[in-house]
Amino acid sequence: MKAAVFYGPKDIRVDEVDEPELRENTVKVKVEWCGICGTDLHEYLAGPIFVPPEGSPHPITNETLPLTLGHEFAGVVEEVGEGSRFSVGDSVAVNPVYYCGECTECLRGDHNVCKKLGFYGLMGGGGGMSEHAVVPEYMINKLPDGLTTEQGALVEPIAVGLRAVRRSGMKEGDSAVVFGAGPIGAVTVQCLKALGAGKIIVCEVADARKKKALEIGADYVVDPTEEDAVARVLELTDGDGADVSFDAAGIQETFQSALQTTRKGGVFVIVAIWEGEIAHNPNDIVLKELDVRGIICYSKQDFEDTIQMLKEGKFDTEGLITERVALADVVQKGFDELVAHKDRHVKILVKSG
Ligand SMILES: [Zn+2]
Ligand SMILES: [Zn+2]
Repeated sequence: MKAAVFYGPKDIRVDEVDEPELRENTVKVKVEWCGICGTDLHEYLAGPIFVPPEGSPHPITNETLPLTLGHEFAGVVEEVGEGSRFSVGDSVAVNPVYYCGECTECLRGDHNVCKKLGFYGLMGGGGGMSEHAVVPEYMINKLPDGLTTEQGALVEPIAVGLRAVRRSGMKEGDSAVVFGAGPIGAVTVQCLKALGAGKIIVCEVADARKKKALEIGADYVVDPTEEDAVARVLELTDGDGADVSFDAAGIQETFQSALQTTRKGGVFVIVAIWEGEIAHNPNDIVLKELDVRGIICYSKQDFEDTIQMLKEGKFDTEGLITERVALADVVQKGFDELVAHKDRHVKILVKSG
């Protein structure tokens, strides 16, 4: 079968590989759609970052590169073991989080901060950018009638947005400011909208993303290259700042702007993954009694609730998809396209079969 295999920076190949075989407590899925994540792109440009390099295998999968990519995917069950909760023909989405189940965090139920946290399709096991995937049964979530596998491939990124909004403690009617309207900023906006936020302000510089943000639920878009973004957000929030803020861009400027545009006593959620250290003045947090919180992926509950919210039609998933490409073309039309025109896209989906 075909699979997109990561060998190293700038080296992803669509190889012919052996079709994986069902093992104990796994489900074999005929993959239909898989999203390309910003994380995948980082691996392509500068990896291995999360992908375990030669010599240090992931503690759960015991694998190193080369390995198959793709952690945002959905498909149809094609083979199950005895006693499985699933049946052949079920449409399913994969929650790709590996966790050990034994560490303090796992025992507390916080699998997303497991000491051995890993991702299917990034740390081994197989991946969604392939025609078939054999996936641990605990990762499989059935898609209810009415949801397509294309929507199923969007559950994973949307669940990150849901996690972010839940961590903010946003209450209905609260104002929100989101820095960055790339894939994660966009789903954060959608989740804010779905959970009843009041005014939603997005700070973004790329034209395509500015337009997209307005389409999917932002009330205002502020472009820091055109105006003083902090002043504008304050103006839009009666001089107080937003109740909740989100940094989905991850650069010094957005971090500082978020601190300055969150109201006193408000909550600032850091959603971005950072390339390195930044400078900031802790007094910006202290003197406003800000709550600054991080998030990493999502809980099982967030993932399941995202599926339910999709079923209820709470998200316009079509608005998130900017391109669909065939697996055979994923390097050129997927990865290279994102490198060249990242700002034109929210989500590129790969058709795996
Ligand atoms: Zn991802
Ligand atoms: Zn654990």
